[in-house]
Amino acid sequence: MNVPVLVINCGSSSIKYALIDSDPEAPRLAGLAERLGSADACLKGKNSTGERFNQPLPNADHTQALSAILERLEGRIPGAIGHRIVHGGEQFTQAALIDDSVVSAIQSTAALAPLHNPANLAGIAATQKVFPELPQVAVFDTAFHQSLPPTAYRYALPESLYAEHGIRRYGFHGTSHAFVSQRAATLSVRGAGGWLTAHLGNGCSTCAVWNNQSKDTSMGLTPLEGLVMGTRSGDVDPGLHAHLHRQLGWSLNQIDDVLNKQSGLLGLSGLTNDMREVEEAAEEGHEGALLALNVFCYRIAKSLAALSCALPTLDGIIFTGGIGENSPIVRRRVIDLLPHFGFALNEESNEAMIRGQEGKLDVENHEGPEVWVIPTDEEGRIAMETRQCVEAQA
Ligand code: AMP
Repeated sequence: MNVPVLVINCGSSSIKYALIDSDPEAPRLAGLAERLGSADACLKGKNSTGERFNQPLPNADHTQALSAILERLEGRIPGAIGHRIVHGGEQFTQAALIDDSVVSAIQSTAALAPLHNPANLAGIAATQKVFPELPQVAVFDTAFHQSLPPTAYRYALPESLYAEHGIRRYGFHGTSHAFVSQRAATLSVRGAGGWLTAHLGNGCSTCAVWNNQSKDTSMGLTPLEGLVMGTRSGDVDPGLHAHLHRQLGWSLNQIDDVLNKQSGLLGLSGLTNDMREVEEAAEEGHEGALLALNVFCYRIAKSLAALSCALPTLDGIIFTGGIGENSPIVRRRVIDLLPHFGFALNEESNEAMIRGQEGKLDVENHEGPEVWVIPTDEEGRIAMETRQCVEAQA
C-alpha cells in the first residue's frame, strides 16, 4: 500500500494526528486539535513547508476537528487510518481491522482503561463519519506485551480476580518498546537477542525483549505501576491505599488523584514534573530536585536489573522517550547503578547525543552488552502496523 496512513491518537478533548507516507524519508504532516468542546478549541500543526498554523475551532467536537484536519492534509488522501488504542485487554495480540466486533471488544475493555478507551472509541466513530470509505485499524498499546508469560503477568491474588475480572499485568507503551527493540535488532550486530528498553518520557516504563517479543515490563494493570514518572508515583506499597483511607480519611478518588497527578518527579521535587527543570534545580543544589533525580534513576536501574531475569542473555540497553533521548545525566546515572552488567558508556558519545539522534554509546571495541539511544517513533510504528493489517486483509 503506497498511499499515506493517517495516524490518530484521540483523547477525551484532543486529537493528535500525523499523515505518514510509506517512504520513511517523506515529510510528515502532523498536528494537534485540543480543548475540543470548549470555546478555546483549536487546531495546531505544521504544513509540508514546515510553516506552523494555529486555527481556532470554537466549540468544535471530534467530528468537526477531523474535518478541519482533513483540510490540512494538502490534498494528500490517506489510504487507511491507524488508531492508537490504549487497552486491548487479552483479546488483541496485534493490530486489528476495525469492524463492529472489534469496536465491541474495545468497549468491553473500557473498564480497564476508563479514561482512554471511551475517548479512543469516540475517535473511531468520528473518523468513520468523516472518512466512511477508508479502512480503519486499531493498534493497541498493550498488544506487544501479550507475549508475557503468566509468571510475569499474574499478580499473586485470588485466581477469580484474574479469571472473572481480568486483573493481571498488561503493560503499556508497547508500540514504543516494539519499535526501538526492533530497530536495535536491525542496527546492532547482535540482532534480535535480549534487549532491555527504557521508555522515559512523561510516562515511563521498561521492558525486557527477547527475540522481538516482550517478556516482562514495568507497567501493570494500569500505567501507574513501575517507574517514577512526571506526576505518577509508580510502585508503592499496595497497603498504602488502605493506610491513607484509614489514617487520613482519604477517598479512593483522592488517592487516585494524588498517585496519578501529584506524585512522581513533581511530588518528590515539590517543583515540577519536567525533567529539564529538575536537572537545572538539582544543579543549583535544590534538595527536592536532587532527591527526585536520585530516586528516578535508582528506580529505573532497579527495574532494569529485575527485568534482566526475563532474558536468557543480555545484548544491550536502549534509552528512548524525551528523557531517554535527551538526558546524558539520567543515562550516565542509570548505567553507573548497574555495575554488574558490564556496560561501558563512552562519556563523550553520551554527552553528544541529543534529540532526534540515534546511536551506540559504548567505548570502542567493548565486548559487554551495548548501550543505545534510539528515538522512538510510535506514530511511524502505528502507520506500519496499519499498512500490514490492511495488506493482510486484501
Ligand atoms: P516525552 O513525554 O517523551 O515528550 O518526554 C517529556 C520529558 O522529556 C519531560 O520530562 C522533559 O523535561 C524531558 N526532556 C525533554 N528534553 C530534555 C532534555 N534536554 N534534558 C532532560 N530532559 C528532557
